[in-house]
Amino acid sequence: MDLFEYQARDIFEKHGVPVLAAAIATTADEAEKAALAIGGKVVVKAQVKVGGRGKAGGVKLAENPTDAREKAGAILGMDIKGHTVRTVMIAAAAPIEAEYYLSILLDRSNRTFLVMASVSGGMDIEEVAHTAPEKLAKIPVSAVDGITLAKAQEIVAAAAFPTDVADQVAQVLLKLWDVFQGEDATLVEVNPLVKTHDGKIIALDGKVTLDDNADFRQPDHQSLVDQEAENPLEAAAKDKGLNYVKLDGQVGIIGNGAGLVMSTLDVVAYAGEKHGGVRPANFLDIGGGASAQIMADGLSIILGDADVKSVFVNVFGGITACDAVANGIVQALELLGPKATKPIVVRLDGNNVVEGRAILAKAAHPLVEQADTMDGAANRAAELAAK
Ligand code: GDP
Ligand code: MN
Repeated sequence: MDLFEYQARDIFEKHGVPVLAAAIATTADEAEKAALAIGGKVVVKAQVKVGGRGKAGGVKLAENPTDAREKAGAILGMDIKGHTVRTVMIAAAAPIEAEYYLSILLDRSNRTFLVMASVSGGMDIEEVAHTAPEKLAKIPVSAVDGITLAKAQEIVAAAAFPTDVADQVAQVLLKLWDVFQGEDATLVEVNPLVKTHDGKIIALDGKVTLDDNADFRQPDHQSLVDQEAENPLEAAAKDKGLNYVKLDGQVGIIGNGAGLVMSTLDVVAYAGEKHGGVRPANFLDIGGGASAQIMADGLSIILGDADVKSVFVNVFGGITACDAVANGIVQALELLGPKATKPIVVRLDGNNVVEGRAILAKAAHPLVEQADTMDGAANRAAELAAK
């Protein structure tokens, strides 16, 4: 999950990274009040999860609260690279003497963490990386040792930070490592890290990406989710503990096991070519259990997608045998009652397949039909979706 700048700023503050006073606002009125509370000059900053706000006109200095009100009014509602600005951050303005760059990230290809640092920070770090790569120091950081004081000093030296700020920047690196490790981040970036006229080092803009795989041990991160931007079906699936990804086709897919579901998407897309380009509507792996409740949860999410015209349930019976899955489907349809409205093609195979198919045949639900093979089922589901 990518965070908004103001969320990154708050996390920085919690871990002792130096930041300036700030507040968020969703109206020009609120922006004026926030500027009044902060006092003096402020910056009004668009909160969008995309880079280059400054160049797009999403970062403006304001002389006083009235000016902040005007600037916020202009920035709110603005479109920045396809993102509508719903919130602005009002932050105390910093008298900038120099702009630097720092980031810590997960370097997947080298299987390590990596720090990047430069004394040429500001709005054009990508350009620096491109045209003057020698100005961007890249130092691997071991996952075991992390950023120690010695490592921080090595980074500061490699990037050639001026001696008058060297100690402060090293301390900031230790704090940023604390953020990176403590919050289970995969990216922590500060651009610019500034030196003010009175020689202080401050993180003026922050970008943080959190590792969703660590959500189980980071309960506080739940509150950082941008509810408005989340797909409602994906949110509902997450609530029920289902692995669901919304796609833009018409055939709803339920399977057990990620590999089976992936190949089901392929056969449906392939079969769909013969039926006017019908495509899979989602990825949904109900996992090994496949109880009636899980099946009902899965079906209700998929049937709640207005794009879905037919459903393909593709299950290979293993430890949970086909008869248990068939009973799950029958009970799920009882639970859903009139909410089940779309044709469902079921393909069962594997452990206890004969018993499973017999259970579905006996229930004879008007929406359910069975297919013997995966290809046959995919073709039928695509055909039903195309009708
Ligand atoms: P970005 O364009 O999305 O990266 O937005 P930033 O928050 O990094 O701001 C872009 C630029 O605006 C910075 O590099 C600074 O030059 C300038 N800026 C941001 N905050 C301040 C501030 O408090 N005072 C001054 N003088 N300039 C600022
Ligand atoms: Mn920036």
